[in-house]
Amino acid sequence: MELVQLNRIQSIGPSTEKKLHKLGIETAEDLVNFYPFRYDIIKRTDLLNVNVEDKVIIDGIVESIPSVFYIHKTLNKMSFKLHTNQLLLQIVIFNRAFLKRNIKIGQKITVIGKINKNKNIITASEIRFEALEEEPKIEPIYHTTYGLSLKKISFFISHVEIDALDIKDNIPTFYKKKYQFLDKKESIKILHFPSDINTLKQARLRIKYEELFVFMCKMNYLKNNINLKEGIKRKIDYNKVEKQIQSLPFSLTKDQRKSVEDIYNDLQTPKRMNRLLQGDVGSGKTIVAFLAIYMNFLAGYQSAMMAPTEILAQQHFSTIKELFKNVNMEIALLTGKTKSKEKKEIYEKVANGTIDIVIGTHALISEKLIYKNVGLVVTDEQHRFGVSQRANLKNKGIMADILYMSATPIPRTYALTLYGDMEISNIYARPEGRKEIITKVVSEKQIKYVLEAMYRELKKGHQIYIIVPLIEESEKVSFENAEDLYKKMNTAFGKKYKIGLLHGKMNNKEKEMAMQDFSLNETQILISTTVVEVGIDVENATMIVIFDAFRFGLSTLHQLRGRVGRNTLQSYCILISNGKTERLAIMEKTNSGFEISEEDFKLRGSGDLFGTKQSGDMKFMIADIKKDFKILMQAKKDSEEYLKTEEGKEYMENLMQTMYQLD
Ligand code: ADP
Ligand code: MG
Repeated sequence: MELVQLNRIQSIGPSTEKKLHKLGIETAEDLVNFYPFRYDIIKRTDLLNVNVEDKVIIDGIVESIPSVFYIHKTLNKMSFKLHTNQLLLQIVIFNRAFLKRNIKIGQKITVIGKINKNKNIITASEIRFEALEEEPKIEPIYHTTYGLSLKKISFFISHVEIDALDIKDNIPTFYKKKYQFLDKKESIKILHFPSDINTLKQARLRIKYEELFVFMCKMNYLKNNINLKEGIKRKIDYNKVEKQIQSLPFSLTKDQRKSVEDIYNDLQTPKRMNRLLQGDVGSGKTIVAFLAIYMNFLAGYQSAMMAPTEILAQQHFSTIKELFKNVNMEIALLTGKTKSKEKKEIYEKVANGTIDIVIGTHALISEKLIYKNVGLVVTDEQHRFGVSQRANLKNKGIMADILYMSATPIPRTYALTLYGDMEISNIYARPEGRKEIITKVVSEKQIKYVLEAMYRELKKGHQIYIIVPLIEESEKVSFENAEDLYKKMNTAFGKKYKIGLLHGKMNNKEKEMAMQDFSLNETQILISTTVVEVGIDVENATMIVIFDAFRFGLSTLHQLRGRVGRNTLQSYCILISNGKTERLAIMEKTNSGFEISEEDFKLRGSGDLFGTKQSGDMKFMIADIKKDFKILMQAKKDSEEYLKTEEGKEYMENLMQTMYQLD
């Protein structure tokens, strides 16, 4: 069956369509699979039974004409009296002066807010111009985007004929029966238009289970089909490795050494290596990976190293060439923009074994690259790759050992559950002599302080990153966008310093130029959206200023902060944020990614843990591996059991096929 296009849905016009695209919704199927992330229960509060500062929902009759008081230009306060059938209350609401003419004496309204019990005042966050219904109502809450309210999303979904859509149910019949799950389409309807809590719970459980079941099937598939195969048994002369370590411009930290030894041991034994190298940003994972590649080279095998972006691949390529210039390894760079003539040459040389190491992006898997004898595959920032991509790359080297690198530490229990038999090496300590990055959260009003701080760094000859959230100009919103900021910064610093700009709309060549200018200190300030996020290494950059910091998850902020503090200079991170700053306080307190990831985990569940939108297969529509850990464990058990059956094998084949199509 064909997917149903959004414009076929009544009430969705071109401008709405664009907004929906921003939420990743392209078809009617996507729209109904866009689940509420939370539900509010709208139920009248018993005012005689509340605590001092409780959140309340109450309806009543307006008893006085609202009075409005302007505290300053952008802050006003409106108050009026409301008579409920229990009490006479004073209602206060900020910045809603525009509602004044709608609030009339005698009118029935509903107020949601916080009560001050002693004074009988409610500070409202919301006013609705209707009375409450007698039965409690469950309201779905969706993630929204600018100009697209909850109500509208709900309204659009109500116009989709869910029964007519082709929606695949991925739970095998056996388990559907076993758990007496609701029908899939029925469940989807309930998620969007819940009538009672009980069925809502059932529907949510069903959809979560499905998501986790599919996820665990993929994980198990990797484990069974790829990881357990016999690996290569090598004999490596560690003296040579040691000699190479001695030739580095720095001495390895204890944790780096331990990781290198872990890998050395893995490479020597016939069991296939499947190792995750975890370490905070700036902890020095790259050199460990290079030494792994070197050991593999010493044993006579080829290596492939995959990075998530071209810029990073390029950087790894130059670094390894520099650090191993005394070794006769043939190293090639292969990315999406490698010229086809050069590409062909690389293919040939990889196939005949002239090239020992190939570093690149997705091109390493999507192209028809045939290795002579690939013994090691390294993927940097592994959480950014989908399962299928990982499977694909691995398949190139039938028995190749695998090393994943990640700067987003996953708490151990989860790592083990998710990756199964994966071994983990941790780099906790950062290289010696590194100072803690001083982090400060400030409001937009303190921009003068920020500019002064920037100036101080520039005067010392240091460089600065400025990060702005990715925003399109078509969205008329208050926060800064990269191009505007570029103009402003030019006004402030343009006379003495050069400023570069890097954002997603630039083509690869432009991006690379901007990055290169910055790393050569041709530009002193680089204004960027988060494309700069992973791995970039410019030692002379000592300050990062992040606008609208509250828009980022803690793990992302931590990643961004890791762009500085990369040598012994004192570095700074300034988080500019109006409102919602409590969450950011942890950034001021600690520089440890392990702590921050735990905190993020506590605060938001697994939501941001695996990085941002690109987080591949770790992105769930509804399930949360922390809150739904029990369901995850059940799904894990079931999927293991199921994949052993004939039906399960067929199921997995189908699943993998649809996955490859998506790539
Ligand atoms: P990440 O773990 O974030 O990938 P990198 O591997 O890019 O970190 O390392 C960050 C920087 O630290 C690089 O410039 C690297 O050369 C340097 N570095 C790595 N290990 C050490 C060390 N033991 N001592 C000093 N500098 C190091
Ligand atoms: Mg890195």
